[in-house]
Amino acid sequence: MIGSKQELAVLLSKLKAFENPDPALEQYPTDSEVAAQVLWEAHMKGDIEHRTITDFGCGTGVLGIGALALGAKSVVFIEIDPRVFPTLMENIYLLEQETSEKYSNYQIIQGNIEAYDVPSQVILQNPPFGTKKEHADIPFLHKAIELAPVVYTMHKLSTESFLVERVNELGGRVTDRYELKFPLKNTMPQHTRDIERIDVVCLRIES
Ligand code: SAH
Repeated sequence: MIGSKQELAVLLSKLKAFENPDPALEQYPTDSEVAAQVLWEAHMKGDIEHRTITDFGCGTGVLGIGALALGAKSVVFIEIDPRVFPTLMENIYLLEQETSEKYSNYQIIQGNIEAYDVPSQVILQNPPFGTKKEHADIPFLHKAIELAPVVYTMHKLSTESFLVERVNELGGRVTDRYELKFPLKNTMPQHTRDIERIDVVCLRIES
């Protein structure tokens, strides 16, 4: 099993990203350093090991795969776009190679998270931020709070106060917040020294 945040970041950096991302679905992967940071915080809080975890809008699987590597009891990967599944499967295979372990404690489901109704102990999600469709992250927030007592959810920092109000209305409580910088790779011309970053917040919610 993975023993440090750095080891986790190295493992996650080897995973493949979306091959043909669909802008309408806001298919931006969580950067490996950022994913390792969030997963390690969650791990330290006892929210990963031996927990049943669901990765909502899993994409190529970085969050759920990190959870498997940290000793989750089980992980359910849910994604609306079946085109991502070959890469997800490759990434799980890569996890097995890197950790010399075989994982049979996961499930992959194609579907809309809005129609999903199986509870778990923890939900991890980096939903669409709503840059294409305003508030596209809100159905994710509703569903996650409905189905799990602990949720880690990433959003644009600028929407935080709006989101915290929604969380409170839904009977949830923000217990922790982590400010993150998402590097937007491949969006800048080569040889530019500053990588463009967007300010993101990850909220830990209990309900
Ligand atoms: N969790 C991955 C991907 C984030 S991008 C990561 O952290 O790298 C958001 C993902 O949510 C995309 O793969 C997109 O296809 C998926 N998605 C968007 N709307 C969805 C919905 N309603 N139900 C399930 N998945 C959805």
